[in-house]
Parts: sequence; structure tokens; C-alpha cells
Amino acid sequence: MLIRSATFQTSAPDLASCPVSDLPEFAFIGRSNVGKSSLLNMLAGWKELAKVSPVPGHTQLINFFAVDRTWTLVDLPGYGFAKTSKGDRDRFQHMIASYLSSRPNLSCVFVLIDSRHTPQQIDVDFVQWLLDAGTPMALVFTKIDVTKPSHLKKNIALFEERISAMGFGLPLVFTCSSETRAGRPELLDFIGKTLGCHQLADSPIP
Ligand code: GDP
Repeated sequence: MLIRSATFQTSAPDLASCPVSDLPEFAFIGRSNVGKSSLLNMLAGWKELAKVSPVPGHTQLINFFAVDRTWTLVDLPGYGFAKTSKGDRDRFQHMIASYLSSRPNLSCVFVLIDSRHTPQQIDVDFVQWLLDAGTPMALVFTKIDVTKPSHLKKNIALFEERISAMGFGLPLVFTCSSETRAGRPELLDFIGKTLGCHQLADSPIP
């Protein structure tokens, strides 16, 4: 699948302010510094996609980008900021949790994990929350250009072990680098196939 156009649509501070839309949404989230902005720009083929919101402080909001008028890319705030106050953290958590558990047109949330590290508790907890909530999700291991293949394999296996221990089946796993663009075709193909399924489901029965 190709992306021909990706344009900033709006930023929302909470679920109630999210735009009304029937278009399937694909959301991206991860710890701050995981490489989310770089990945979104790499995917959209646009250098500044994730930084073009005209709203100050947009990194703490839910940001919507219309892609080819067929789907919406949603940039969710990064979690795990060391410097935010407890009040801000609670507000973020509520905003993210309500979007992820109650947005009817959310097709999939991609959880970005830094491939250089063994499983971090904050990521494992977040994935458990998503699985408990029944939110469709996939894992995206980032920065694979700086991770030795043997470490990448080990870190993915360790994360999968943690998920198995929770009693859930394994989610889809993607591996990406914004530097080399590795993983881009696989991610876009997955989005394209998911969109194809939506269109089939929406078409009238002959
Ligand atoms: P965000 O906070 O999750 O949006 O992360 P950024 O996209 O701003 O990236 C954080 C840091 O990681 C920056 O210094 C990026 O240049 C670097 N980075 C992001 N993606 C990659 C990648 O795929 N490979 C490498 N080597 N560095 C990356």
C-alpha cells in the first residue's frame, strides 16, 4: 500500500472532542523517545508529519491525520514522561484509556517498543491493559538498525514470554527502523489488508 497524502486534521484533548468519523483509525503509542515521531514521518513519507500540528503542546493531545481520505492515522501522547506532575499523568491516562477502550472506529493500536531494551515494566503493563480491554493491537519494535539481530530476537522473545504468562495469545509483531525504512512495507501492507477487510464488511450483500 502507498500513502499519497497525509494531512493534519485536528488535535483533541479527550475522547468527547475527537472528530466524528467512520473512517478506520490506526493509532500509534509508546514511551516518549521510543521513535514514534520518526516512525510516523517515515511511514507517511513526510519529514514533519508528526510535528506539523499548529496547536501548541500537541504532543499531549490526540492528533489526527487524514490519510488518502480512506483512513486516519492517530498519534497518541507518549507515556512515561519523567517530568510530568501526577495530575497531568492521571489526565493523560484517562484520555488515552478512554480513547483506546471506547473509540468505535479504532482498527488497531500499534504499541512501539524500543528494540534495544529487554522488556520494560511500563510497556508490559500497558500491553496487559490493552489486552484486558480487548483493544486490537500489534507490537512494533523500533530502532532495529542499532540493535544486533541476536538481541532483537531475544528481546522480542522475552516480551512474548511476558504476554504468554498473562494468558493471552501473541499479538502481531513488526520490526522497524526509521533510519533504513525497514518494516515500512510490512506495516503499510497490514494497514492496507485491514482496510480491505473493512471495505468487504461494509459492501452490501449482492
Ligand atoms: P518520540 O519521542 O517517540 O517521538 O521519538 P523520536 O522520533 O523523536 O526519536 C527519539 C530519538 O530516537 C531521536 O534522537 C531519533 O533520531 C532517534 N530515533 C528514532 N527512530 C530511530 C531509528 O529507527 N533508528 C535510530 N538509530 N534512531 C532512531
